[in-house]
Amino acid sequence: MTTAVYPGTFDPITKGHLDIATRAARLFDKVIIAVYDTPGKKLMFSTDERVELVQQSISDLPNVTARSYTGLTVSFAREAGAQTLVRGLRIGADFEGEFEMALMNKNLAPDCELVCLMASMKYQFLSSSILKEVARLGGNIDDLVPKPVIGAINAKLKAARKASKRPKKKI
Ligand code: ADP
Repeated sequence: MTTAVYPGTFDPITKGHLDIATRAARLFDKVIIAVYDTPGKKLMFSTDERVELVQQSISDLPNVTARSYTGLTVSFAREAGAQTLVRGLRIGADFEGEFEMALMNKNLAPDCELVCLMASMKYQFLSSSILKEVARLGGNIDDLVPKPVIGAINAKLKAARKASKRPKKKI
């Protein structure tokens, strides 16, 4: 049985990520989307929320699951019984960073292979960070994220707006 781990921050999952997961699901018996439990990094969604959004977005992919992890990606892959890591590559944005990480991972775990899938043309420009920026500025993101993510982002932005309107406590 071939198992692959597709690791990332997924804050939140986009249609670009989902496209990579869908294509990886055709190449491997089992794909685990591994959501990095990032200590200290300022994200829009908590780790549990990011995993939940991934799970809701992959409901029609029977051989894909989602889990959070901490520590080294290669250690998580080994524990999960995966032989391969999957990453997506966008023009310009990803190559050097992925190359560097791949060489380090190979050094840490020589038996673990990396498969990079080229981002589809229509998602080349898409990143979670640009998506959040556009949503914050009131742009339409409905075509760029799986359905469950639309409501989740809107709810976060609404809560943030409400919190910023609250009068500040006097000190
Ligand atoms: P990380 O912080 O590890 O880069 P991300 O959640 O940003 O986590 O991305 C996870 C993986 O998905 C990375 O390999 C990234 O290059 C890839 N990826 C991100 N956006 C896209 C996209 N639009 N199309 C294809 N792959 C993408």
